[in-house]
Amino acid sequence: MSSDHQAPFQAAFQHADRFRRSIQDRSPLPDGDFPSLMAAFDGPTPEVGSDSSTVIESLVRAAEPGLMGTAGRRFFGWVIGASHPAGVAADWLTSAWGQNSGNYPVSPAAAVAEQVATGWLLDLLRLPSEASVGFVSGATLANFVGLVAARGHVLRKVDWDVEADGLFGAPPVAVFIGAEAHATVFSSLRLMGFGDRRVIQVESDGEGRMNLPNLAVALNNHSGPAIVIAQAGHINSGAFDPVGAIADLAHEHEAWVHVDGAFGLWARACPSRASLAEGVEKADSWATDGHKWLQTPYDSGYAIVRDPEAHRRAMTIAASYLSSSSDGIRDPAQYVPELSRRARGFATWAVIKALGKQGIASMVDRHCNLARLFARLLAEEPGVRIHNDVVLNQVVVSFGPSDSEEERDHWTREVIAALQEDGTCFAAGTQWQERWMLRLSVISGPTTEADIRASADAIIKIWRRVQDA
Ligand SMILES: *Cc1c(COP(=O)(O)O)cnc(C)c1O
Repeated sequence: MSSDHQAPFQAAFQHADRFRRSIQDRSPLPDGDFPSLMAAFDGPTPEVGSDSSTVIESLVRAAEPGLMGTAGRRFFGWVIGASHPAGVAADWLTSAWGQNSGNYPVSPAAAVAEQVATGWLLDLLRLPSEASVGFVSGATLANFVGLVAARGHVLRKVDWDVEADGLFGAPPVAVFIGAEAHATVFSSLRLMGFGDRRVIQVESDGEGRMNLPNLAVALNNHSGPAIVIAQAGHINSGAFDPVGAIADLAHEHEAWVHVDGAFGLWARACPSRASLAEGVEKADSWATDGHKWLQTPYDSGYAIVRDPEAHRRAMTIAASYLSSSSDGIRDPAQYVPELSRRARGFATWAVIKALGKQGIASMVDRHCNLARLFARLLAEEPGVRIHNDVVLNQVVVSFGPSDSEEERDHWTREVIAALQEDGTCFAAGTQWQERWMLRLSVISGPTTEADIRASADAIIKIWRRVQDA
């Protein structure tokens, strides 16, 4: 029996297969510019419908010139995972199955996949087994969920029910945050009614880590409900705040400790790097991503809260948060802000199953070793400076023949532009410590030592060429 899904599904499969085969050979940068992409997608609102496979053909033709090679082995831009094939296939099925993961009765399989993946994630990340996990779109939302749970909990302890009475008139909550927290944490704070100018920023050191004595002083100067936001994995340096010591200190002040560990939390899944993130388990909530180091396809993040009741109270839609569903059944919507949503548990379950504990540990270990190799190869070249202690997978580099910081900014931006033009690999610039740097994030599942050597060669050649120009 032929039916109307076969042709579009097959077309999608064939294009996906061809795209993924070509990804290592094509430039990571798109060839289409904004006007050509607009011309390809644009047109009047369709008056009448079209055949589905024809639509898919048109979509592929319009989109491909504007696709980034983010899933490629030599993509070091931002902090981007490579969409593991098992996760992508599970994600296709998620769409094809058309499941709504709101509640257990709406899709029992979606609910159970999340419930089992919850246990696996807590095991991999060595976090308390009683914690709950919300499957959200990324670390931005995961930070938001953790912080909303924190807000409710610290206010409840001073007899204020924020879920019922809101924030107007509530006792003030002090929020302590490292000065180099990720920008999205500040946007979460805005969303939850804590303006980003109201928070107390704690100075950080040269690697972007929160300064512990300064936090101690700030906490001592304060009384009342408080939240401390720490970071496991700085976006530029990969450095970790001293989370264990921060948690000990903050808990003396009865503050809630939230950790943004978008990619860094995965150091805990790797025995050779776990010491970086020791003590992180003492926190009260954690945010991390699936679509970065775990390699799930977009979108995928995890909001993890030690106290499931605080988590449910903050997120549940009905007032049934005091018990999770009956018979040990977990209801997905009690841990996230949405009701209807993509059944993200399938892709997470599939990727963890495909890689295994050992595969995840060895991938994280390999990426960290490759980042160190990348830094070492680059540092051999005169004029190249590495700006961070490469403890994890992130490397920040600047270029310049002189000691003038302004000149280095100029040369670094020249190298970044020429590198993006060259196409051997992709990386982007960042501004850190008021300087321009090239940021290399080694986090793509399939990246090999040969990729790092070829990319370091290309960067050095470009730096030499730029100087001679
Ligand atoms: C990427 C990142 C975020 C934001 O995560 P999204 O998945 O983009 O929502 C937050 N914090 C840190 C440290 C990150 O690296």
